[in-house]
Amino acid sequence: MSIGAKIRQLKSLLPEEVRLVAVSKLHPPEAVMEAYEAGQRIFGESRAQELAAKHNLLPKDIEWHFIGPLQRNKIKDIAPFVHTIHSIDSPALLQEVNRQAAKHDRVIRVLLEIHIAMEENKHGFTPQSCRAFLSGEEAADYRNTRICGLMGMATFTDDKEQIRKEFHQLHDFFEELKSARFKGDEDFRELSMGMTNDYPIAIDEGSTLVRLGSYIFNHYKCNQT
Ligand SMILES: *Cc1c(COP(=O)(O)O)cnc(C)c1O
Repeated sequence: MSIGAKIRQLKSLLPEEVRLVAVSKLHPPEAVMEAYEAGQRIFGESRAQELAAKHNLLPKDIEWHFIGPLQRNKIKDIAPFVHTIHSIDSPALLQEVNRQAAKHDRVIRVLLEIHIAMEENKHGFTPQSCRAFLSGEEAADYRNTRICGLMGMATFTDDKEQIRKEFHQLHDFFEELKSARFKGDEDFRELSMGMTNDYPIAIDEGSTLVRLGSYIFNHYKCNQT
């Protein structure tokens, strides 16, 4: 199936309240354009340099999301244009995003990444450290970032019950924050969870943003020959 056909299929498949982030990392601008021409406007990248290069080349109405581990010294490369950063995994990172966004007089939307997987090498706040951070004054003071929700990655496993349990916990934590710290805050509404191998479970468990890469782009090279 072509990239365009995949996008159209997903549009009809995904529930209305779930939006698609097409993860184009490692795929060329032409592949992004194929998805764009099929109507896709939200794209996700996980390297600052690659994201900046694609932003330069591609249509300006694309909404760029940064989804990977972000080094503090790379924020300046994406701060002028990035729409949402999904991967805020420490107070220091949020502080620096806020500082760089201020330089451009922008408000960058961010999601706090929560560590839900069993793997140690995944990033993110624990629910405890996240609560502690949010109850401090620091987070409330930032004028150039807006906390719009949470992001999480499940353990990479075939054990569907394990994945469901992790997404379920993340959703519970999201609801907890929504009814307490973010009560009445309409911006706090995104739950970014679900990738190619686990997105149906993530949708069942309340995802609002699914991040699909291989599902859309994997056969790109084969289609060219
Ligand atoms: C690469 C990546 C994705 C997309 O993964 P697929 O399995 O290709 O759908 C989603 N989220 C993050 C954080 C990623 O780095």
